[in-house]
Amino acid sequence: MELTYQPFELQLKHAFTIAKFSRTSTPVMLVQIKHEGYTGYGEASMVPYMGESHESATAFLSKVDISQINYPIDFDAVINYFDSIAPGNPAIKAAIDIALHDLDGKIKQQPCWQLLGSDPAKMPVTSFTIGIDTPEMIIKKVKEAEGFKVIKVKLGKDNDKELITTIRSVTDVPLYVDANQGWTDLQQSLDMTYWLQEQGVQLIEQPMLKTDPDSNAWLTERSPIPIIGDEAVQRFEDVDKAKGVYTGINIKLMKSAGLYEASRMIKRARELDLKIMIGCMTETSCAALAGLALAPQTDWVDLDGPFLVSNNPYQMPDFADGKYILNNDAGLGIRL
Ligand code: MG
Repeated sequence: MELTYQPFELQLKHAFTIAKFSRTSTPVMLVQIKHEGYTGYGEASMVPYMGESHESATAFLSKVDISQINYPIDFDAVINYFDSIAPGNPAIKAAIDIALHDLDGKIKQQPCWQLLGSDPAKMPVTSFTIGIDTPEMIIKKVKEAEGFKVIKVKLGKDNDKELITTIRSVTDVPLYVDANQGWTDLQQSLDMTYWLQEQGVQLIEQPMLKTDPDSNAWLTERSPIPIIGDEAVQRFEDVDKAKGVYTGINIKLMKSAGLYEASRMIKRARELDLKIMIGCMTETSCAALAGLALAPQTDWVDLDGPFLVSNNPYQMPDFADGKYILNNDAGLGIRL
């Protein structure tokens, strides 16, 4: 196998603001793995608050000896090899894992969704995320979200109700809410869950600090709508810790180090009777298609990454009636 990669700066259509950060672009690493005339494509999206960068990804890739990976691919051995090189670095590990899955599908002449056991008919609608902004910009963004059947709203500042009310003045689509650990007071948070339910909110992501399972568990027990752990749940080992704390977990390939471990997390979450959301970072069609290969196995899909960027180097995945449509191409279905 032959591994090549290019750093790329993904431009966002709008400055993206969540409870703790704001930014206008995302560094990504585009990865290709060639084997016997086939090319697998992968991507690392390295949002700054997760701690990875072009520099850290290049340093990790320089330590990868691709001749250690043989075909047929033993994905369990691959992730153990990556973890033996360095801890952390989940996004760049995901990039190689995604490229290997794309390559594997192309060699086997089968779509990755099929190899991963997904049924395209079970694809949930995808939410479209709106960051924290002024009321004027919120209304503009909601209008841009026409075509989506669910909107996800970033909360966690002191004007949460105002933001929801602004959105409700222009649309009645169901909402998901992501507080990104921004809530602090227990009783206020509980009151908020009831108010949000009245506003047609269907779930709340990571209301309180990821390091405070007790407060999140207290709220989950009392909230009328599901509470989903996102920042608190990164890799496979975190799934068991979510039981009793959250209603469900948000799996992202850039946290889980790729498809292999995300697939294991889905199976484990089902065993524990946890609900499952699959989410993304701001990313190209490449990483989104990788997430989509597992999306039919989840309850909620938040894979709007390619819709939030202005210089996606790949074709947009097929999309209609608020849902992505999986194609029958071998591999991930990335189209150049
Ligand atoms: Mg989140």
